[in-house]
Amino acid sequence: MRMAAIDHRAVGLASDRAWDIAEASGGAFGADPMEVLGRWDEFLAWAAADAPDGGDTYRSEDLTCPVPRPPQVFGIGLNYADHAGESAMEIPDDPLVFTKFPSCIAAPNAEVPLVAGNCDWEVELVVVIGRAGRDIAAGDVADHIAGFTVGQDVSERVGQFAGGVPQFSLGKSHRNFAPIGPAVVTLDELDDPWDLRLTCDLNGVRVQDSRTTYLINDVPRLITYLSSICELLPGDIIFTGTPSGVGMGMDPPQFLAAGDVIVSAVEGVGQITNRCV
Ligand code: ZN
Repeated sequence: MRMAAIDHRAVGLASDRAWDIAEASGGAFGADPMEVLGRWDEFLAWAAADAPDGGDTYRSEDLTCPVPRPPQVFGIGLNYADHAGESAMEIPDDPLVFTKFPSCIAAPNAEVPLVAGNCDWEVELVVVIGRAGRDIAAGDVADHIAGFTVGQDVSERVGQFAGGVPQFSLGKSHRNFAPIGPAVVTLDELDDPWDLRLTCDLNGVRVQDSRTTYLINDVPRLITYLSSICELLPGDIIFTGTPSGVGMGMDPPQFLAAGDVIVSAVEGVGQITNRCV
């Protein structure tokens, strides 16, 4: 299943076609993607039996955010060894967790308004939670995942590292600093969901290129760790971390400028395109 949103209504995607979930289900499921995610197991069971084959053609620019109002947004820092190295920071024993406040969540094709400071790019695999849980066991992790999507963890570095005891969250929470999409893709759509190539192209130049198999804390570890502290809720999202190749790690450092186009992609999941303004 690939669930996306068009004009803020939940749709299923099949190649270049989309079908409206509320209409196809005769109203059994609502139009709000958050409502569908709140009944994800039930929705998948219905779709397995009754999802339509066809649908209407759509353009990628028609897509709106597939998870527009996540209850909680977890971000993970320093979760690829090569990125920790370029950041000149020690890899922590436990996952380094911050939040992107939910008001920065944006559509897969959203424009990113740059702010004062040093705005930087971070392509990431994003996990979408489909079933609530606390103290989730490693063996049960897949049952709690609705699917994966692509995320761009836009980060303003001056704010991120400001203060004697830096907190990452505000510098990563400006308007539209978390475009995600194009769809929530269930794990059965992926040949090997635990080893996916992720890339970021800036104005057509490849700046990040790695695989999720290099995650220091992999997805099962992140879910067991986070759920040992916080209850995970349907529609929560986890930005799992970025590999090397961000602007602050370049020599000299390079940051985003108006007109820049960022294309972030995860193998089998899709890609999102965001223009800086
Ligand atoms: Zn990040």
